[in-house]
Amino acid sequence: MNKFDGQVAVITGGASGIGLAVAEALAKEGAAIAILDVNAASISDALATLSLPVERARGYTVDVTCEDEVLDAFSQIDATFGRLDILVGAAGIIGRGSLEETESEQWRRVLDVDLSGIYMTARAALPALKRAGGGAIVNIASIAGIRAVSPQVNVAYAAAKGGVISLTEQMAAELAAYGIRVNAVSPGFVETPMSREQRSIGAHHGWTRRIPLRRYAQPSEIAEVCLFLASSQASYVTGTNLVVDGGLTVVLTSDT
Ligand code: NAD
Repeated sequence: MNKFDGQVAVITGGASGIGLAVAEALAKEGAAIAILDVNAASISDALATLSLPVERARGYTVDVTCEDEVLDAFSQIDATFGRLDILVGAAGIIGRGSLEETESEQWRRVLDVDLSGIYMTARAALPALKRAGGGAIVNIASIAGIRAVSPQVNVAYAAAKGGVISLTEQMAAELAAYGIRVNAVSPGFVETPMSREQRSIGAHHGWTRRIPLRRYAQPSEIAEVCLFLASSQASYVTGTNLVVDGGLTVVLTSDT
């Protein structure tokens, strides 16, 4: 008997990095998986990695900022799987540059994907979660949403992730009435395509030695925390933001 047998999980951004690791871990524990991602080629690769029968894994090419695409995907998921138990919001993009360099177009796009995408997919998932009699939503925020980790962090990204934490708390308060728990996970630095790109432009220089555990997280280490929050083991946990950063935020001082 697996922990998530018979359950259906939607993972946004599930074609890469943290989202893919969550999809793999949930699939291993018996869940059926629906990946929502904007990158069709990565979805195909992710489905090949999962290597599940078609009735246990489907991909939907969706931009989480596009309401029509999101609603259409959820109605297809309903028709295919017939239920929904878990929503993991891992779709995200990183912003670049200082406040002066952040033009309004980038500001809006980062807020749209990283924050409005969480609102949009949670709202679309709600009818099915209510029908299931409850469920779990796990939103991927970031330590950048808790404090100014470094002057290099983009303002739009920090604002969006702070918003994800507030949105998570408010949804938890509201949706508890339906048996839906809502939690956030705030990773520090994780080995994914997103962080590799940041490293390649030198944006992460010197960080590893500041992390008490002296290394980046593997995506699977973030996924395990998401699985805990989605599982019945976390039945009394809602509205929390679980920081998974190798100890970084506890040692950060304001001059780092
Ligand atoms: P990633 O780039 O590997 O994966 C992000 C996925 O989101 C990609 O598959 C991408 O195609 C998808 N995506 C992007 N925009 C989308 C959109 N508009 N609609 C649908 N899908 C979209 O990055 P990751 O590192 O796995 O990041 C996952 C989440 O974790 C993000 O929210 C990110 O901000 C957060 N996070 C990452 C780190 C890190 O160090 N990697 C740290 C803290 C938080």
